[in-house]
Amino acid sequence: RQAQPAILALFGATGDLAKRKLIPALYDLHRKGALPRPFLILGLGRKPVSDADFAAQAGAALARFGAGGEELRDVEPFTRLFRYQQLDPADSQAYAALAERMATLWEESRMETRNALFYLALPPSLYAPTADGLHAVGLADQSDGWRRMIVEKPFGEDLASGVALNRNLLERFEERQIYRIDHYLGKETVQNILALRFANAIFEPVWNRSHISHLEVTAAETIGVEDRGGYFDGAGILRDMVQNHLLQVLATVTMEPPVAFDAAAVRNETAKVLQSLRPITAENIHEHVVRGQYLSANVRGDDLAAYRDEGGVAPESRTETFVAIRAHIDNWRWGGIPIYIRSGKRLPTRVTEVAVHFRQPPHQFFQRADGAAPGANRLIIRIQPDEGILVEFGLKTPAAGFQIQNVGMDFHYSDLGESPIPSAYERLLLDGLLGDATLFARSDAVEWGWRFVQPILDAWATDPEIPLYGYPAGTWGPPETKTLFKEGGEFRYPCRNLTTDGGYC
Ligand code: NAP
Repeated sequence: RQAQPAILALFGATGDLAKRKLIPALYDLHRKGALPRPFLILGLGRKPVSDADFAAQAGAALARFGAGGEELRDVEPFTRLFRYQQLDPADSQAYAALAERMATLWEESRMETRNALFYLALPPSLYAPTADGLHAVGLADQSDGWRRMIVEKPFGEDLASGVALNRNLLERFEERQIYRIDHYLGKETVQNILALRFANAIFEPVWNRSHISHLEVTAAETIGVEDRGGYFDGAGILRDMVQNHLLQVLATVTMEPPVAFDAAAVRNETAKVLQSLRPITAENIHEHVVRGQYLSANVRGDDLAAYRDEGGVAPESRTETFVAIRAHIDNWRWGGIPIYIRSGKRLPTRVTEVAVHFRQPPHQFFQRADGAAPGANRLIIRIQPDEGILVEFGLKTPAAGFQIQNVGMDFHYSDLGESPIPSAYERLLLDGLLGDATLFARSDAVEWGWRFVQPILDAWATDPEIPLYGYPAGTWGPPETKTLFKEGGEFRYPCRNLTTDGGYC
């Protein structure tokens, strides 16, 4: 599929996201010949910058962050795509000049239809004013070409602001014009969850409460808040990771088969399963949620600061850097089994994965060498790093008798070819140009995500009795997390390498 000629109007073109992710992703698309022709990238920002200087800045960003370690080639034809227009997105009077500039560019580059993709790499408070400004000068109108808008998370700070943001954007653009980026959905391995489930016949028959005892979704980081302390302290890990990324991953693992692989069908099922998450209440939060905040520790010779001593963090901060949740999906497929969601900073390893734990055989007459029952089957979908899939099962140890040991069958995504896995932004930018919204979050799904986390946020904000546990940096969060496991045994601690560590350590 080839995208139609278009202008990509990049708001926040001088910002961190543009430099680190978007310009390198556009370059990768350019190098692969995937960008439409003609195609222009119109950078927008408050400073006065010439087209040539902006092209040079894009080249510098590419040299710093691009190509994933590969040699940069054909940079000059790529930077020739860049133009710049001074614009303060908060100034409603500034959009007329943008409309004029875009009209000139469409004409000069002989684009027959006036297509535009507006990428809002801006602070979220500017999303609604930008949509207003574009709408006021006719740039949301699709009569002479398609007009689409990509917005970045966060989609609100809570349920009320998430709903308000959707309402504001939908007053100016239609739902089918709005592409909400959750870059987790752009990851190949997350898309592979859908392929694993729906391109094969062997998994789906056992993909339910009758055969699965529990699910785990984990996103662990070794880093702390780095230079994002100010932002993170106002957000916390529940908002930053769970409400968006991990619920989207959970939805791909648990959704019903869509009737087709298209945006409407897939996103209908996503919304349905998120709607089925059982709300956690102030009364039962103690049995369902554990939160923590990292403390200072010496990890492998490095003295790591406590969260409260990080730059931009309030000294008495009660923001959580770790959360573990025992959730339930109240539907026919998943009713009654626990779903564990866990995310944290300053944990022992960097890993994002889904672990599907199957039930024990109904009648077990084998044992391991130590006399214990063999472990249950597990299927681990590793999203990052060392992307792959591991299936664990029991086999007989070679010798007399029938002693069982767990063995693993693993697939590494890197085995599929020489070429590096495309970045999430590369995939999503191209989908935005192609008009394929399958891997973007729809407004209802975002709101169902907020409906699930809002009672937890409310309980934390209003009930001082709910503990915030400290955990030393470099550990798997507060030991109290174990109390969440009623049926599921214990949280398993994923290792970095899928094969050598058997997925766990
Ligand atoms: P940023 O660097 O803070 O800001 C992007 C640009 O927005 C700035 O370069 C600035 O451009 C413009 N801007 C900032 N404040 C403004 C204001 N008050 N009025 C008008 N313009 C203003 O943000 P970012 O890190 O690139 O992130 C952009 C968006 O993506 C945010 O919503 C963020 O939450 C989201 N996001 C970022 C990342 C990431 O890796 N950085 C990851 C996920 C999501 P000028 O000064 O040139 O006008």
